[in-house]
Amino acid sequence: MSQHPTLAFIGAGNMARAIIGGLVSNGYPAEKIRASAPTINKLDDLKALGLFTTQDNVEAMHSADVVILAVKPQMFKAVLLQLAATAAQTKPLFISVAAGITSSSINQWLGGNQAIVRCMPNTPALVKMGTNGLYANNSVTPEQRTQAEEILSATGLTLWVEDEELLHAVTAVSGSGPAYYFLFMEAMIAAGEKQGLSRDMATQLTLQTARGAAEMAIQSDVTPAVLRRRVSSPNGTTEQAILSFQANKLETLVEEAMQACAARSVAIA
Ligand code: NAD
Repeated sequence: MSQHPTLAFIGAGNMARAIIGGLVSNGYPAEKIRASAPTINKLDDLKALGLFTTQDNVEAMHSADVVILAVKPQMFKAVLLQLAATAAQTKPLFISVAAGITSSSINQWLGGNQAIVRCMPNTPALVKMGTNGLYANNSVTPEQRTQAEEILSATGLTLWVEDEELLHAVTAVSGSGPAYYFLFMEAMIAAGEKQGLSRDMATQLTLQTARGAAEMAIQSDVTPAVLRRRVSSPNGTTEQAILSFQANKLETLVEEAMQACAARSVAIA
């Protein structure tokens, strides 16, 4: 990052720590990062990294250029009402990683006219392989967009949507997506065991295959569909498995699961 804006993390749980960890290991100066949470001794490790830590959210936010809202969704309203007076004076960029809370609710609780980026992260952020869907409201400047992108790219890929409603679809694909792959891994491990492999062997084969397939698809200049056809020779072993998946309507199962996910995201927003 060319300049290092002062960052304040309100809430210092899993998601905040994933972003902070990525930033610090990328060389972001720790003294430019502040964090607050109600239990001060839970912040000792962040203090040891060189961060300014406090139990006082308003103190953490003081003189911050960017405020990252990383508390649970049910805490949002109370926390934002507490920050509103300072926000009116200092006008930082707010980045929310909360699922389901709209930019207009955030703006309203902060007193209005605030620059807000919403981010739908996912849990592989914990290993710097996250995927972040971002949306900026009309008050966000181009420079603040770049700041948001640079901060969140410490956890992985960042992609923008220009329509906030599309964050429901982002939730259905990447926000909740890791769990779909975990479920598929569980099923492959169990099926491998049924065919006589040890649990450990079935697990290692499954996980490395998932990693290899993802890496290959990322590095390839052709689509996953082309890669799949290339490894499914007529009358071969892979083709038999693919035909079985298709006969059992895998694509419909995936589509319905993702529709259910998006519908739930709409319902809780
Ligand atoms: P967490 O419970 O690990 O962390 C919440 C933090 O907020 C804790 O440090 C807690 O002490 C602190 N906190 C509680 N009350 C507070 C208050 N009044 N003021 C300041 N801090 C307070 O939660 P998390 O998993 O890090 O989730 C944080 C946000 O990230 C949530 O809003 C969640 O929706 C979002 N998230 C999304 C995904 C995803 O996969 N899409 C994954 C994780 C988190």
